[in-house]
Amino acid sequence: MKTAVAEVSLSALKHNLLQVKKLAKDSKIMAVCKANGYGHGLIKVAEALSDADAYGVARIEEAFKLRASGISKSILLLEGFFSEEDIPVLSVNNFQTVIHTEQQLAQLEQSNLDIPIKVWLKIDTGMSRLGISINQVEEFLARLKACPNVSDDIVAMTHLACADEIDNEFNHTQIARFTRCVKAHNLSKTSVSNSAAVITNLFYNSTWVRPGIMLYGVSPMQNSSGSENNLIPAMTFKTKIISIKSILTGDKVGYSGTWQAKQDTNLAVIAVGYGDGYPRHAKNGTPVWLNGREVPLVGRVSMDMITVDLGPHSQDKIGDEVILWGNELAIERVAAWCDTIAYELLCQLTTRVEWKYINTD
Ligand SMILES: *Cc1c(COP(=O)(O)O)cnc(C)c1O
Repeated sequence: MKTAVAEVSLSALKHNLLQVKKLAKDSKIMAVCKANGYGHGLIKVAEALSDADAYGVARIEEAFKLRASGISKSILLLEGFFSEEDIPVLSVNNFQTVIHTEQQLAQLEQSNLDIPIKVWLKIDTGMSRLGISINQVEEFLARLKACPNVSDDIVAMTHLACADEIDNEFNHTQIARFTRCVKAHNLSKTSVSNSAAVITNLFYNSTWVRPGIMLYGVSPMQNSSGSENNLIPAMTFKTKIISIKSILTGDKVGYSGTWQAKQDTNLAVIAVGYGDGYPRHAKNGTPVWLNGREVPLVGRVSMDMITVDLGPHSQDKIGDEVILWGNELAIERVAAWCDTIAYELLCQLTTRVEWKYINTD
């Protein structure tokens, strides 16, 4: 058995999907499971979320893996195809594609397919990442509708830049632009919301919602945790204590001695490091859960180990279980101590970690 374990609760994933259903009653749900199901394991996640109406991925390889595992539901490439050679592959495997450049459109027009592809037209309403500008929509629609390689029911989509900030006015600017655009072009199928927009009900009457992070029980909102939004964290990342020692006032800990003991205390060495994906940027004081309490990380994160201050009167033993994030300790808090977001922590676990699935029925 490996030392660091990412324990994933399939029933938590299912609970979180039900939560999306409650919040977006009238919309179909595309379960976003790119980047290996946000680090939880692509196939296991997709199977647990089989009540979703479709899956969203970012790379064609992810779509292949889903099909190879026997999943027959619709799969959308959220960034479309990156190479002309992929077009026939999309058609044969029933992969749907986002279109966001003129180049993709021209390549679709030049293909010769037996089965047309379902297209989602991505419109840039202010994020300035992917998407055509609003004044290109008319031309794109005309060409898509005239193209025999494209099926009839085009979905208009956009992505919000600031949905995680509930009071940000720019959300309303983007939604107003999108709403005007879909009305002007009589587009009846729409998709706007990521998790944050689902939770804040920013755009309620779309055909499709596209939640990712909330399915994994993690809050997309700044300064809140999954459980505060009725979600259950799907992953518990845990490991063990491999050494305990007493240190004296003034002793320095770890590389470059960045932390110094202010009193005589006990230190535990824990078997996890950046080689497992625990963030090296975790600062002194980052919470770690151990025997029913939080203890602070002290000293630098090493490749294979971290050190925590147990306090002078600790009872902890070698072999005791340590939780790095999960139900007991919100990953959003750990992320804040590392100046990052939970998304990144989840995605960066390495193959040295063992994934275990629980609550599987
Ligand atoms: C990743 C992604 C999502 C999901 O975002 P979350 O914040 O994880 O809910 C939705 N839409 C698009 C286009 C994405 O790339």
